[in-house]
Amino acid sequence: MNSGASAIDLRSDTVTTPTQAMREVMARAEVGDDVLGDEPTVIRLQEKAANLLGKADSVYVPSGTMANLCGICSQTRHGEEIIAHNESHFYFYETGGFAAVAGCSVRFVPGRRGIFGPDVVEANVRPQQIHYPRTSLVIIENTHNRGGGAVWKVEQVKAVCDQAHEMGLRVHMDGARLLNACIAAGVDPTAYTKYVDTVSMCFSKGLGAPVGSVLAGDEETIQTAHHFRKMLGGTMRQSGVIASAAIYALDHHVTRLADDHANAKAFAQLIAQVPGITLDVSEVETNMVFFDVDPKWGPAKKFVRRLEKEGVRMFATGPQRLRAVFHLEVSAEQAKRAAEIIAGALQQTPA
Ligand SMILES: *Cc1c(COP(=O)(O)O)cnc(C)c1O
Repeated sequence: MNSGASAIDLRSDTVTTPTQAMREVMARAEVGDDVLGDEPTVIRLQEKAANLLGKADSVYVPSGTMANLCGICSQTRHGEEIIAHNESHFYFYETGGFAAVAGCSVRFVPGRRGIFGPDVVEANVRPQQIHYPRTSLVIIENTHNRGGGAVWKVEQVKAVCDQAHEMGLRVHMDGARLLNACIAAGVDPTAYTKYVDTVSMCFSKGLGAPVGSVLAGDEETIQTAHHFRKMLGGTMRQSGVIASAAIYALDHHVTRLADDHANAKAFAQLIAQVPGITLDVSEVETNMVFFDVDPKWGPAKKFVRRLEKEGVRMFATGPQRLRAVFHLEVSAEQAKRAAEIIAGALQQTPA
């Protein structure tokens, strides 16, 4: 159904295509007009997501990028500063919308694998003097993408949020893969989200819906987010057709995320033994595996092209670094096969 179906596609969990059952639900979706506020399926999804995330309300948006941007716009003013890790997705991959649209600057805090503590938040909030921008928002990412799919502990989220709130800041969680974090940590989403003011979550990654994300929070903030969604062109008329896929995904594709984690771990264990690969298996907590290939085999980009020819697709995320992401279109068998192909490529003479 999808192009290049024979390749094992580990570039991202966004490559998943809707299943036949999901398409059938989409074909039957009851629809209205979401700009006029009477899209029954979108309303149903927003209620379901708010409920899952333990928030008063939520807003359905076309992408995770827009969910984060609406979250930022709704909780900051132009000229204010956001505290975040420098490897954050919203900073790294979302075209600088925090600056271009929300008019904010970012102050970086250090932390291993994207996770930081309350001490660095406290140290980086600007004093209230005429010289400084006002710090208004902290953004945490769970799981942390460039941190290797790293999972925040509930206590770590609580500590950062308590510190931020004590200093009058708000906290947004980029939870594009929040449900992966919940499966890995063995907790309900609310265990995390009860501490944050807003949370975004993607339906189009491991959950397997074709598009869409959600931003959840208190009523007033989500009302403001509705305004920014419209401004950004993200309020879509008969969007029940796609929202129905997200409802289906929440009903059918959550618990199976554990399979992706198991496949990622099995793959990591296999390739960690291959000479030429550097990988700490204990850092594989969810569905993402990051590893380094020895420069002897050339830069990561070149190694990626070589693997592509052998039927495995991945991304290079650094000079020697590769990323493999597991999802509902990759079986345990294919995870093993992908590891064998990598091992095979590294047994050949370095090209
Ligand atoms: C994928 C992702 C997003 C949003 O991406 P979109 O492609 O806009 O849906 C946001 N945050 C993280 C951590 C992500 O991995």
